[in-house]
Amino acid sequence: MGLLRHFSRDIGIDLGTANTVVYVSGHGIVLQEPSVVAIDKRDKTVYAVGLEANKMIGRTPEDIEAVRPLRDGVIADFGAAEMMLRSFIKRVKKGIFNPHIAIGIPSGVTDVERRAVMEAARKAGASEVFLIDEPLAAAIGAGLPVAEATGNMIVDIGGGTTEVAVMSLQGIVKSESVRVAGNELSEAIQTYMKRVHNLAVGDRTSEEIKIKIGSAYPGDEDNTAMEVRGLHLLSGLPRTVTIKAGEIRESMEEPLSVIVEAVKRTLEKTPPELAADIIERGIVLAGGGALLKGIDTLLAHETGIVTHIAPAPLNCVVLGAGRVLEDYKNLSRVLTKLSMVS
Ligand code: ADP
Ligand code: MG
Repeated sequence: MGLLRHFSRDIGIDLGTANTVVYVSGHGIVLQEPSVVAIDKRDKTVYAVGLEANKMIGRTPEDIEAVRPLRDGVIADFGAAEMMLRSFIKRVKKGIFNPHIAIGIPSGVTDVERRAVMEAARKAGASEVFLIDEPLAAAIGAGLPVAEATGNMIVDIGGGTTEVAVMSLQGIVKSESVRVAGNELSEAIQTYMKRVHNLAVGDRTSEEIKIKIGSAYPGDEDNTAMEVRGLHLLSGLPRTVTIKAGEIRESMEEPLSVIVEAVKRTLEKTPPELAADIIERGIVLAGGGALLKGIDTLLAHETGIVTHIAPAPLNCVVLGAGRVLEDYKNLSRVLTKLSMVS
């Protein structure tokens, strides 16, 4: 970290299972797109990335493949992940000289994969690459005092995984990762629509239902109705069905209880002093799943601990990654050891 560093910009990246978010110091968030890449199979080049590639899922000709390289918090297709990361970096890097890049990655990613992610960023032009475990990045981005000797709990509900972590002094003390998060909630809605309404709906529709009328805790809005279009399984024809918010909440009960149990298990194994801090400070929710209506109330009700939603939950990880680069002197302990080996 020499003098040159002051003339270069830093880049923070949240490599999420559902969305990739990129932050450039001095600019703020410059990119937020689905973690999808479309690859031309003939010459193995990137055909499209992000939003554009997302539209192609399920709609590609034989020689093009649109994939989500990260699944369930691990890198499922490494070559594709590398291509996606490189094209996102290339897009934001214009005019940025030798950036330092900090990447938040799911804690379930293996050492081999970590090295490969770093290599991909380096090939894309980074002068230095750091990796940060997502829960720490999320906590920093949510403005929690992770550098202090006090317990903080973050629950990051993403697309593929929910990561629960208790942190103190820039380190993770206890954590749990479950492969149940936003995707599972949408899938539960799909299953329910099929079983009860004989209606087949796609991924986009089930996600739209979840975002529009989905909730995690009973409330006044349980009677809110929504019209849903899908394929009627008995007649084989398109049909519109009216559903209620209450039935959608009930359809998500099982995956929601998996998330609640992960939080409870983490609390149970938390050392008493830190548990006392968490009771005082409350639990903080991050990730897109934190936006599900009533999820804070559900967790507060189930754990007896006040639960807050982080400001801008979808951006906590990337803002945390950016903060670490900007305040490297005070926060470098959060960077994984592996990343220091380089
Ligand atoms: P990841 O970190 O895995 O990329 P994100 O933190 O970007 O995931 O969150 C993506 C998940 O958040 C998706 O499952 C999406 O459906 C969900 N999500 C986004 N907005 C909302 C909302 N308003 N209500 C409920 N779920 C939401
Ligand atoms: Mg995430």
